[in-house]
Amino acid sequence: MENKQKLISTSSFVIALTIINLIVYHFSLYLYISQNVDLGTLNGLLSLSVVFVLAFFLTSILFFILFLINSVIAKISISILFFINTLSIYFINNYKIIIDRAMIGNILNTNFEESYDFLHFDLIVYILIFAIIPIFFIFKVNLKKISRIKVFLHGVLIVIISILWIYVNSSTWIWIDKHAKNLGANIMPWSYIINTIRYTSIANSEFRNQKLLPNPIFENDNKMLVVLIIGESARSQNFSLYGYKKNTNPLLSKQNIVVLKNSKSCSTYTTKSLECMLSHDSGNDEYEVLPSYLSRNGVDTIWHSNNWGQASLKVDTYQDRSSLENDCINNQCGYDGSLLNKLETRINNSTSKKIFAVLHQKGSHGPKYSERYPEEFEVFKPVCKSVVLNDCNKDSLVNAYNNSIVYTDYVISNTIDMLKKIAIPSMLIYVSDHGESLGESGLYLHGTPMIIAPKEQTDIPFILWLSDDYKSKIKGIKNLKSYNHFNVFHTTMGAFGLNSEIYLKNLDILEK
Ligand SMILES: [Zn+2]
Repeated sequence: MENKQKLISTSSFVIALTIINLIVYHFSLYLYISQNVDLGTLNGLLSLSVVFVLAFFLTSILFFILFLINSVIAKISISILFFINTLSIYFINNYKIIIDRAMIGNILNTNFEESYDFLHFDLIVYILIFAIIPIFFIFKVNLKKISRIKVFLHGVLIVIISILWIYVNSSTWIWIDKHAKNLGANIMPWSYIINTIRYTSIANSEFRNQKLLPNPIFENDNKMLVVLIIGESARSQNFSLYGYKKNTNPLLSKQNIVVLKNSKSCSTYTTKSLECMLSHDSGNDEYEVLPSYLSRNGVDTIWHSNNWGQASLKVDTYQDRSSLENDCINNQCGYDGSLLNKLETRINNSTSKKIFAVLHQKGSHGPKYSERYPEEFEVFKPVCKSVVLNDCNKDSLVNAYNNSIVYTDYVISNTIDMLKKIAIPSMLIYVSDHGESLGESGLYLHGTPMIIAPKEQTDIPFILWLSDDYKSKIKGIKNLKSYNHFNVFHTTMGAFGLNSEIYLKNLDILEK
């Protein structure tokens, strides 16, 4: 029998795939354009056309090149891209994320367990419709024997026509340049390809040896313990200590703490904020970070982490989530309470005069706020259990989030109680890495670029507690107009009585 199945030329297939790519995965791009230009005007329509042509040109060239290499490799690669496109549009549509370099960093720093948090029935529907059907089409089509010269010439023709169109419409360039970040973040698959390259090239350069900071001088030989609790996605707006109407700080409100008003994060994502807290100079990541610096200079340094995202560290004791779990007791297993496991004994056994302990919380990490606290901390009800946050009504979402704050309140207060028991001069710093959006202006989670980040993502709780014997040694707390992550490094230096050319007294919150 003769095979009647129609064969399609490679060039037509590339164009068909490019058009599928532009129709299926670019809803957010068109939405963004329609919200930012007036499509009733000629210039608006030209802007749309230039972005469309640009996206068409970039994508078709990639596909042409893949087919010129080998059609099987091309089909597999494009299928993988369509699959990743599907995941991208799922997150863009459901969480309003912007795929930029920082967001790729967040994604690459997310472990399997966290990404499992995002699994939801909707995602399966997305995969079926937007990935499986187009991929089925890709493999169903039979191609004519490829004529490489023809395919190459067709590719060149598309490049020439596209460039001419973009060139002729140069009046739209200013608008495109102004919106380049958001447009680029929505052009699939380039948004994640380019930003992954940008992220990994910068991350790799960070892996080169961090430069050492100048050695400090110890101004005293006093015993001192500093505990830094790094919060996660906690916003000051939901702390009763910052004026929130619901009582989310039942325990801390009874502790003798200092609440630093008007505190801002330096970024809206974990990695960058940690850099700001732990580096001496505005988040300069070329140098060793605070824990490594202190440890290298004889401060006994402990890092307990229930989270990720810090730069490489050299400390005396490092325990991550799984090693903390080995020692966990009763209902704190799997929650931030396990950060305190064996900490008291470890501190009591230290022979060092100066001890620095960092506890990196999982805090209020979304979207499953309801899984961040043991059951008895579910004081606000009902709670949202879905990972598709706009499925939940606002109250149940805020309730779940508030419960995670109530639990953080407990963890901090418990740490203070531990410090009282240890009874050596000590200071506790609690500061969140960034805030969180809970649906305000349609935004959820965090990671919005800093220039347009809403205050929900940048207004953070920043709290100090000083032991009585330490309080008697200092003059007081500086009343600054605002506080931020850069205070952490220098305040810790000051508390240990460390001086060096990099110590900035004006960033030290303590008056000595
Ligand atoms: Zn974070």
